[in-house]
Amino acid sequence: MGDYGIAMSSDPVIPQARGIRRNGPVKVVVVSGPTAVGKGTVVSALSRKHPEIVISRSVTTRPPRPTERDGIDYDFITPEQFDDLVDGDGLLEWAVVHNSHRYGTPRKPVEKAVADGRTVILEIDLQGARQVRKTYPQATQVFLAPPSWDELVHRLIGRGTETPEEQERRLQTARVELANADEFDAVVVNDTVDHAVASLVELLSL
Ligand code: 5GP
Repeated sequence: MGDYGIAMSSDPVIPQARGIRRNGPVKVVVVSGPTAVGKGTVVSALSRKHPEIVISRSVTTRPPRPTERDGIDYDFITPEQFDDLVDGDGLLEWAVVHNSHRYGTPRKPVEKAVADGRTVILEIDLQGARQVRKTYPQATQVFLAPPSWDELVHRLIGRGTETPEEQERRLQTARVELANADEFDAVVVNDTVDHAVASLVELLSL
């Protein structure tokens, strides 16, 4: 991938598609995966097809991108508001992602969805996935993988929303995430959105 001048060592191994199906009463689904792999796009497409699914909306201290809307993509909050949520046990999980901003999953909407017997999807990073594994061991944990390292780099640079330094930081995190894909119940390769959505529908028995 030398063309992009970003990766410093050899390209990471990309995990292959695989999966087990969990049909427990708790329908918490974690979707994780490296930067720019298309988690948001895939989860939105899935929710258009299955509007009964609850998509957890995270809180973050990261400032919004120009295309993002508060209360839709995230609840964009101040560090003080984040502290209050942590202190009040209002978050199911939270993490500092890419060594920069804090992101967390509000606890109540997830608990309500579980109580209502609905499927709820959490789009969160590896650290958050590990925390949810403790709270909801029956949750299905899905890792969304890119078809190749080059493609991932291409998608990240192509969307043009990060500075080169931020891109580099995100690719370093991506290496760690790809190396830990074995922890997940399933790996879905996002080669096309339609294909990834179809894999999720099958995996989650929707
Ligand atoms: P972005 O800044 O690109 O929106 O998100 C950066 C990373 O933060 C992504 O890997 C995303 O999955 C993760 N993320 C988003 N919301 C949460 C959350 O509530 N908790 C955790 N642990 N990670 C999150």
